[in-house]
Amino acid sequence: MIVFNTISETHKYLAALAYNNKSIGFVPTMGALHSGHLSLVKQAREENDIVAVSIFVNPIQFNEAKDLKGYPRNTEKDLSLLENLLSSEDFIFVPTVEEMYPKPVDKKYDFGALGEVMEGSSRQGHFNGVGIVVNRLFRIIQPDRAYFGEKDFQQIAIIRKMVELENLQIHIISCPIIREKDGLAMSSRNQLLSSSQRKNAGILFKSLSDAQSLSANHTVQETCKIISRMINAEPEFDVEYVDFVNEATLQSINSWNEADSIRCFLAVRADKIRLIDNIKIYPFSQ
Ligand code: AMP
Repeated sequence: MIVFNTISETHKYLAALAYNNKSIGFVPTMGALHSGHLSLVKQAREENDIVAVSIFVNPIQFNEAKDLKGYPRNTEKDLSLLENLLSSEDFIFVPTVEEMYPKPVDKKYDFGALGEVMEGSSRQGHFNGVGIVVNRLFRIIQPDRAYFGEKDFQQIAIIRKMVELENLQIHIISCPIIREKDGLAMSSRNQLLSSSQRKNAGILFKSLSDAQSLSANHTVQETCKIISRMINAEPEFDVEYVDFVNEATLQSINSWNEADSIRCFLAVRADKIRLIDNIKIYPFSQ
């Protein structure tokens, strides 16, 4: 695999690939790689001639300065993990902030209702920053396919919308959530949890799994309350939101028969660390 730090050297390399008609699968990441990221890379490796991975902690998608400062970074380790999966022609793009943003950015996306719920309302400006960086990365890498994890399910919907708004011809592929043994969704932020927070963090997946059985004999509102109480009963965790939504629109539902496919989303704070997760719900027929 080859490592590029600048857009110009990446473009030079891409020109040769285009000449040879090679398909490119792209996995954008913020580094501190774990098996969740690597699952996307493996899928991209299977489906494309060339795999491109970017490692860039995007400052403009952070709505809290402390979160950006404390975000885990370990590029050396990331590169050695990728080395094991990638071929000699695959490449990693590791730009600096100045390379990505030589000038101040003022673009504003309108993602409509998709951008106003859950992560959109909890993290002001977050999705605008995600849209801007992914659009820039797409224009630099020019992939045929781009791979994203359902761990950030709402983000996938936002990226699809951005691709539509920007009129890009890129196939967005969603990949399943990879979990730890206790069900905790893998996340770069998990390594920031204290050992006690980590020990108890299985409650997030447990409560999401319980949502399925609770939906058999509780209303949406009751299920929300029970799940929130379960998580809040752990002294180290505070629920920011639990939401049952229509998977197609990401808007909240009020009853189980209101949508064909339903997903439960949650955001939980463990002191300064914020964890998100989601699960598909298969409602029992009422
Ligand atoms: P990040 O580095 O957090 O920006 O994540 C880069 C990509 O990896 C995004 O598409 C995430 O949704 C995906 N990802 C992160 N964690 C997981 C996971 N546990 N399972 C699957 N995909 C993941």
